Amino acid sequence: PISIAAEDPEVWAAIEAENNRQEDYIELIASENYTSPAVMAAQGSQLTNKYAEGYPGKRYYGGCENVDVVERIAQERAKKLFCEPAGVEMAVNVQPHSGAQANMAVQFALMEPGDCFMGMSLDAGGHLSHGMHLNFSGKYFRCVPYGLNADEDIDYEEVERLAKENKPKIIICGASAFSLRIDFKRFADIAHSVGAYLMVDMAHYAGIIAAGVYPSPFPYADIVTTTTHKTLRGPRGGVIFCKPELEKKINSAVFPGIQGGPLMHVIAAKAIALGEALTPEYKAWGAQVVKNAAAMADELTKKGLRIVSGRTESHVMLVDLRPKHITGKAAQALLESGHMTANKNAIPNDPEKPFVTSGIRLGTAAMTTRGFKEEQVREVADLIAELLDHPEDAEVLEHVKAEVAKLTKAFPVYAR
Ligand code: PLP
Repeated sequence: PISIAAEDPEVWAAIEAENNRQEDYIELIASENYTSPAVMAAQGSQLTNKYAEGYPGKRYYGGCENVDVVERIAQERAKKLFCEPAGVEMAVNVQPHSGAQANMAVQFALMEPGDCFMGMSLDAGGHLSHGMHLNFSGKYFRCVPYGLNADEDIDYEEVERLAKENKPKIIICGASAFSLRIDFKRFADIAHSVGAYLMVDMAHYAGIIAAGVYPSPFPYADIVTTTTHKTLRGPRGGVIFCKPELEKKINSAVFPGIQGGPLMHVIAAKAIALGEALTPEYKAWGAQVVKNAAAMADELTKKGLRIVSGRTESHVMLVDLRPKHITGKAAQALLESGHMTANKNAIPNDPEKPFVTSGIRLGTAAMTTRGFKEEQVREVADLIAELLDHPEDAEVLEHVKAEVAKLTKAFPVYAR
C-alpha cells in the first residue's frame, strides 16, 4: 500500500497526530462518530477519480458503468434501511455532498426566493440551514422560527399557531441539540393542514432511527434529509428521501441545481455504511447508544448538573452548567485539558453570549462505537463532574487524565 508517511511526511505528521488524538481522547461531540475501516478505504479508492454528472443510467460522461452500480447499491440500501420498515415508497438521492447541501437542494426545489418556511430556531436546538439569518436558508427565504415551551419540549401549539398565521411552503423539523423524541405525526398533521410539505432533517437521529430505538419520521414526512456521518456512522455526506412525485424536482435541484459531479468514492462509502447499518450488530450498537445516553444523563444529574428538557430519549443531551457556576466556553476548555472533547452549546434562554454559552452538548455515539457500555459512560460522567467541581485543581486534572488514558487504552478505536 502507498504510504503517505513516505510520500508526504509533512501532511502525514498532521494526520498521524489526529489519529492519536482520536485514540487518546474521549469523544463527546454528539455529531461525531468513528467509521469502519471499509468506509474509510472506499474514500481512498480510485472512485475519487471519476466524473459522473447525472444519475445512474443517465450520465453526462462516459465510463460510468461501474459507478452506476455503486450508486444504485447505495440507493437500494438506503430504501431498505429506512423506507421498507415504515412501509413507504420513496425516491432517494445519495449525491448531496453534505447535510447542509441536502437541505439547500430541498429548499431550492420546493420554494422560490422570498417564500416562507418554518424551522426550529438555532437557540432552541435547530440547525443553521433551518433558517438562521446568516445562512442561505435565512437569506433567500423568509423563515418563521419556532422554539420550546416552558417544559423545554417543542412548542407544538406555537408551531400550529404560526403555521396557520404564515402558511409556510415547508415546515422543517429535526434538530442539532434536542434530546427528546420528536412527534413527527403531529408535525405532519400541522404541515398538511396548511398545505405545507413536512421536511424532517433526521441528521442527528438517523443511526438510532435505523436501529429502531428512536421514532421513524418515514410514515409521515414528505421529504427526509440526513447526514451520513453522525449517528449513522458513515462518511461525511448527505442523503435526501422524497415522495416519488417530488423526485424530479429534488434530483434536478441537486444536479444541476447546486452541485456538479457527485463524489463517487463517498457514495461507495455511503453504500458500505448503509450495508453495515442493516446488520443485527448495528441494531445492538444503536440500542446501546441510547442506553449509554440515559446512563450518562442520570449520572450527571446525580452529580448536580441539570439536563435540558429533564432527560434524554436519544443519543444527545444538553447540559446546563449553571449549577456549577462555569460557562460553556470554560467547560469545553477544561474538558479538553482532561482529554475529553465536547462543544459548548447555548441552552434555552441562555444568559451568556453565543460564543460563551451556559451549556455543553454531549453525545454517546462515538463512545459506544469504541465499545463503552453504561459502566464506562458513568465513569466518564463522574470524571466530567469531578473536573467541573475542581476547575483549578492540578491533582484532579492529573487524576482525570490518567483515568481517561486507562479507558482509551482498554477500548481502542482502530486496531493499529
Ligand atoms: N442538519 C442537522 C440537524 C445538523 O445537525 C447538521 C450538522 O451539524 C447538518 C444538517 C449539516 O450537515 P453538514 O455539516 O454535513 O453540512
